[in-house]
Amino acid sequence: MIAALEKIVGQNNVLAHGKEKSRFTHIWKTDLPLEALAVVFPQTTEDLSAILKLCHQEKQEVVVHGGLTNLVGATQTEKKQLVIALDKMNQIEELDEKSRTITVQAGVILENAIDAAADKNLFLPLSFGAKGSAQVGGIVSTNAGGLRVFRYGMTRQMVLGLEAVLPDGTIISSLKKIIKDNSGYDLKQLFIGAEGTLGIVTKVVFRLQEKPQSRSSAIVGINHYEQVIQMLKFMEKGLAGTLTGFELMWQRTYRAITQPPSAYAPPLPDHYTYYVFIECLGSNAENDFERLESLIGEALENEMIEDGVLAQSERELQSIWKIREDVSVLADLAKYDQHFDISLPIPVIGAEVDRAIEQLEKLDFVEKIFPFGHVADGNIHFIIGKKDNSPEIIQAINAIIYAELARHKGSVSAEHGIGLDKKAFLSTSRTANEIELMQLLKKTLDPHGILNPGRIVSP
Ligand SMILES: Cc1cc2nc3c(=O)[nH]c(=O)nc-3n(C[C@H](O)[C@H](O)[C@H](O)COP(=O)(O)OP(=O)(O)OC[C@H]3O[C@@H](n4cnc5c(N)ncnc54)[C@H](O)[C@@H]3O)c2cc1C
Repeated sequence: MIAALEKIVGQNNVLAHGKEKSRFTHIWKTDLPLEALAVVFPQTTEDLSAILKLCHQEKQEVVVHGGLTNLVGATQTEKKQLVIALDKMNQIEELDEKSRTITVQAGVILENAIDAAADKNLFLPLSFGAKGSAQVGGIVSTNAGGLRVFRYGMTRQMVLGLEAVLPDGTIISSLKKIIKDNSGYDLKQLFIGAEGTLGIVTKVVFRLQEKPQSRSSAIVGINHYEQVIQMLKFMEKGLAGTLTGFELMWQRTYRAITQPPSAYAPPLPDHYTYYVFIECLGSNAENDFERLESLIGEALENEMIEDGVLAQSERELQSIWKIREDVSVLADLAKYDQHFDISLPIPVIGAEVDRAIEQLEKLDFVEKIFPFGHVADGNIHFIIGKKDNSPEIIQAINAIIYAELARHKGSVSAEHGIGLDKKAFLSTSRTANEIELMQLLKKTLDPHGILNPGRIVSP
């Protein structure tokens, strides 16, 4: 297998015979060396097609590696598996200012695509904490969300065209720049959010927006969850389509991020129950700031919020958003942690988080509980610190967080995906018939089950 791979891509593009150990299966909080047969780096779609053809023929299991920032164990490997890493397919192929699109290879780091668009005064609205490491292929395959979903949608809404290679090596290419295309099934959607189980993404055409001319932000303190919902409605109405971020942090999380050992200073006192981070992207810096300021003033007068502060400079704006984005501070507070990424209808989130905290606090192996998230999207994350990683502890915590999901028609994964870690809970979000259809799709496109085996569903 290794010799055949070297024939396709050249010796320089295969790591094997112990050299693969210089790589990892994940880059956040783990530095265990990679266990795999080899790592292969295709440089073109044709390389990848030949590699997959070979793997299909030989029934060789493959795990795809992007930026390795996923939080669901999706890039873990076994010794017998081959890793295909897209790192060397990292070219921005075209930035079309008139169509307002950017065509990128799958190994491009998100931040590089954002910067390339910004250089031409255009805007790729995808943004999240791992943007400096996550690759386009991984982002598309997990249908990543992030901080501006509320206004611009998930990754899915930004993809106009896509190229992927099927597990048997067939290239499916549709690098279109058009917004509307109802000519049959929308095949690119098969690969978006499929976590690399149905094909490997090689190129993507993203739709771009005009670059906003102003960014204004505020952080407000609120004491009752009902007021969080009121404030969301109030800001959306008042900012007339320019509200782009409405992120919620519970007091315990805010305190942990703004007290030592964390280096971040608190922009507001830490005695409020909730903290909301607000972002508005507009076209006129002065007017937009004044409008946000007057809305915050009105919300204070109407007792919808208890306190609020607006970022008066770019430096203040960055420091407010660092508090929301740098959640690695939370994970560093415990030796072992468990991450959650659930969706619930917005009205039930306050009570559901209270219930989970109350039940988790009764478990003596739970050390820290940090809820925060994209409340305007109905998406809450928990980082839970615990004594160790035993299966009993993992299971007890899962049982509490997922207890009411099915009843509320929520989701076990709002944006991070299922990977290996959440597979056992897929049925809390999906019906038996839906899971059966997923299995049928997998079996049809990957009859030997070679591609990212065991992720999401097993045939
Ligand atoms: C600090 C931090 C903050 C985060 N915040 C968010 C957030 O707000 N919103 C959010 O949605 N996610 C968030 N994430 C999760 C993560 O960044 C995303 O899931 C990201 O999209 C993964 O991209 P990646 O390139 O790292 O993919 P990887 O981790 O390498 O892979 C993810 C999955 O995609 C598959 N894959 C990778 N490349 C390809 C390809 N070319 N073709 C087919 N399959 C492929 C892998 O096999 C795996 O199943 C965060 C992570 C961190 C560490």
